[in-house]
Amino acid sequence: MNEEKNNMQWIELDGSRGEGGGQILRTALSLSMITGIPFAIDGIRAGRKKPGLLRQHLTAVQAATAVCGADVAGAALGSQSLRFKPGRVRGGDYRHAIGSAGSCTLVLQTLLPALWFADGPSTVRVSGGTHNPAAPPADFLIRSWQPLMRRMGVTLDIQLLRHGFYPAGGGEVLAATAPVAGWQPLHLNARGDLRRQTAVGVVAGVPAEVAKREMQRAASQLGVLDEELRVLPSNEGPGNVLLVMLEYPEATEVFSAFGERGMPAETVADRAAREARLFRDSGVPVGEHLADQLLLPMALAGQGSFTTHVLSSHLKTNCQVIEAFLPVRFACDEVERQVRVSVFPA
Ligand code: ATP
Repeated sequence: MNEEKNNMQWIELDGSRGEGGGQILRTALSLSMITGIPFAIDGIRAGRKKPGLLRQHLTAVQAATAVCGADVAGAALGSQSLRFKPGRVRGGDYRHAIGSAGSCTLVLQTLLPALWFADGPSTVRVSGGTHNPAAPPADFLIRSWQPLMRRMGVTLDIQLLRHGFYPAGGGEVLAATAPVAGWQPLHLNARGDLRRQTAVGVVAGVPAEVAKREMQRAASQLGVLDEELRVLPSNEGPGNVLLVMLEYPEATEVFSAFGERGMPAETVADRAAREARLFRDSGVPVGEHLADQLLLPMALAGQGSFTTHVLSSHLKTNCQVIEAFLPVRFACDEVERQVRVSVFPA
């Protein structure tokens, strides 16, 4: 491997830079598969309490390896260094188990961009956590991210087969996708008038009353909203999440808060409602989390732009990683509490 390293141009990444989290690795995996450029990363997740590869990150590495037949060194739990030399991305039917409540959606988001450049259609099934704090809930991917991918020319159908919560996991998502025939640049700088607000109260092995109280409280904070109660089989839990969805003509945003033992349902609802209100009041079409998840697809399209309200460290760091692999540049212009993010050819 070292011999090859001398003959090829490897991208060297410092995983402790900026945000210092798992996204640096996931973005590098996706773009390495797409561009064929190998990379070496040290200091993986150095900014986190438990640094190195956790099960979610290791599964993303293994899944990427399976999809493109990569040559890999350092793929082990806890590893803080990885060398990844990709092969050709092949469409197919893939199945991966995280084996913990690690986020299925983050593994999916690592593989999907590569499969948009494969030689044929694919399905990907990932089991683990589908609703995790600090990761996109499956509903976020389906309601918020997927429609925008479709607008960019991506064929994508994500299904939530079974919910999985921390710490038990056991959830499953299934995605069907295909190579992109033609990219459509996305410009998302206005959102239009609010069409609908929905609160989705999800409980598994937790009384339905908890979700009802959460939805009621969300309504008292946000005004009239549609309510959807999801009572799951108790063996899918224990788990409780409140999802608040705000639908605009141009995009839908999904905010979430998780129930915890000893935490009143009202506190859970207040957390989700606060984020939703901040976003609603900001007037922008793209929320903080969606923002950093749009960068890579937009860069693949070669150009695009959106307006958000938070210049997060996830966003800044992800721009840098993408710029290391692709011939694009990002600009982030802050004007009156709004941030306009643009990507254009370098
Ligand atoms: P680490 O354990 O290193 O934090 P990680 O692998 O969990 O790493 P991050 O690098 O922190 O991942 O990236 C988390 C991703 O999840 C980001 O894209 C972020 O925007 C997204 N995310 C976090 N919270 C939410 C949320 N509530 N809704 C939607 N997306 C979210």
